[in-house]
Amino acid sequence: MCGGAVHVNPYGDVDYRIIQRPGGTYTHNNEWNEFAYDLVAPHRTPIVATCDGVVVWADFDPVGEPNGGWGEMVVVRDSSTSQCWLYGHFDTNSIAVAAGDPVEAGTVLGLQGNTGNSLRTHLHLSLHECNPSYVAGAGFSAPWTLQQ
Ligand SMILES: [Zn+2]
Repeated sequence: MCGGAVHVNPYGDVDYRIIQRPGGTYTHNNEWNEFAYDLVAPHRTPIVATCDGVVVWADFDPVGEPNGGWGEMVVVRDSSTSQCWLYGHFDTNSIAVAAGDPVEAGTVLGLQGNTGNSLRTHLHLSLHECNPSYVAGAGFSAPWTLQQ
């Protein structure tokens, strides 16, 4: 069970810091990003799935502003809730999964990077209602709590 509270470190065993929380005034101030967390570990640290699920998007974000806001992005449909976890800003050419792949909590998705609308290497992690037409994270973000 995973659902609305994530207990699994998205960096496996590597320590990380939270640099922006839900409601953060820097960029987490609109409906798409309101409930997101921005996390930092060393550049190119592997990022792992926090829940069991199925990859529904593993490519450059086609919809963010101004041009692919979340950059290289992976979206995983959570098998316990059918909501979608969005992981943004992977390093270029580092995504390690493809749409349709089943993943388990701990499966490596790619490497932390700085692609899209990002000023420094970090991970943007947010929860969304899955959009059947899937344009990735095009839906509003949903509340959840990261438990470090
Ligand atoms: Zn963010």
